[in-house]
Amino acid sequence: MSCLEMPRSPVPDFLGASERAFNDATAMQPRAPAVVPADARNGARVKTQDVQPEGVYRPNFNFLTPNMRSPEYVQMSTAAAITLGLMGGYMHRTSCTRCLNLLLTYPEGCRANCAYCGLARHREAERNYADRNFIRVDWPAVPYDQVIDIVAAGGDRGRFHRMCISMITHPRSDDDTRIVLRKWVERVRHVPVSILSNPTTMTRLDVQELKNIGADIFTVALDACNRDVFDRTRGSGVQSPHSWDKYWEILHAAAEIFGPERFGAHLIVGMGESDRDVLTQVQTVRDLGGHSHMFAFFPERGSLMDHLPPVPRPQWRRIQLARYLIDYRSHRLEQMRFDANGTLIDFGLPQDEIDAVIDAGTAFRTSGCPGKEADDISACDRPYGDSPPRDIASYPFRLNRNDIRKARRQIDAGMSSTSAAAATVSRSK
Ligand code: SF4
Repeated sequence: MSCLEMPRSPVPDFLGASERAFNDATAMQPRAPAVVPADARNGARVKTQDVQPEGVYRPNFNFLTPNMRSPEYVQMSTAAAITLGLMGGYMHRTSCTRCLNLLLTYPEGCRANCAYCGLARHREAERNYADRNFIRVDWPAVPYDQVIDIVAAGGDRGRFHRMCISMITHPRSDDDTRIVLRKWVERVRHVPVSILSNPTTMTRLDVQELKNIGADIFTVALDACNRDVFDRTRGSGVQSPHSWDKYWEILHAAAEIFGPERFGAHLIVGMGESDRDVLTQVQTVRDLGGHSHMFAFFPERGSLMDHLPPVPRPQWRRIQLARYLIDYRSHRLEQMRFDANGTLIDFGLPQDEIDAVIDAGTAFRTSGCPGKEADDISACDRPYGDSPPRDIASYPFRLNRNDIRKARRQIDAGMSSTSAAAATVSRSK
């Protein structure tokens, strides 16, 4: 039995996290990707060894990685594998996840090179694709028919409120996503499907086809909150193929094709953008009719940003709260105030209204596509995907009184320091 927190080298001690108002752009520079030897490129080792898979494969350095490919095989999060009974283990303060997160898998892996991501191409020399950690956990590989058989027979005991297909960047991923989706909707009626898309290889027609086959929600992992951060972390800055404009093109197509409340954008907080940058994207997505799904930046082991500090909790908490107000309380960016750095200094609401939202705690839960509980409660709870359990960023369960007290302290610390900084700036003018 193992806890969801995977064994890893100690995380660097990021002293000063509580004093920093935000992760600024100068500090948040990824290192350059190293050159990958030819004999490790494109999954060459796995394809040459050509070990045939037998059932579930759990990442394990004592075994040669089998040659597994979607649509026959998919990877799933450790939380989903525990929930399905395919793996032993326990999760801190929660017994299951509500979302079956699936990842397409190929020996060649994802062909993109995003600096914050454990699946990125630059890791080819160090680790085969199916063995790479992603959002802090391992992703076991499972025969897809076995997954469908279990869920169609009720083996998840109603615990999954949603399934999600993560497409990754691979020449086969558009076709295989359609196959995986079609098989699911033909056999599993009670669990709707979200698509975590790969805009780089997609056209508007691809978005329409996924809708026609039966996808329920379409999401775009924009991740970066401004064009500079995007280029630096997942575009030309790290020899990665993505472009800000292409991502927005597919996001607009999703808004039109899937319609209000049926599309969303992923955003990562703390990669060198300002609070205003994040909340500008949140407001834009809301104005289009969608929702934002937020992740706290955490230095993923093996990524090009694993030497950088996680988002300071005060920054993260005020953004979580502001995003919730925009997405679910019809509050607007224009009503909030920012300092000269773009740091949020005033939510633009009476204190008693802010207190009520903090006390409810929902704003601090993991955000994502909704499940069966409520529109503002995400099925995709990603337990400990953006923080260790000892310092939770996104709560994968209802907060208790201590959790709420802690979140309030973190917000107060951030707002008082930013207000004080703003006052100092205005005094010195
Ligand atoms: S496209 Fe997605 S899976 Fe691939 S490296 Fe970028 S963030 Fe990771």
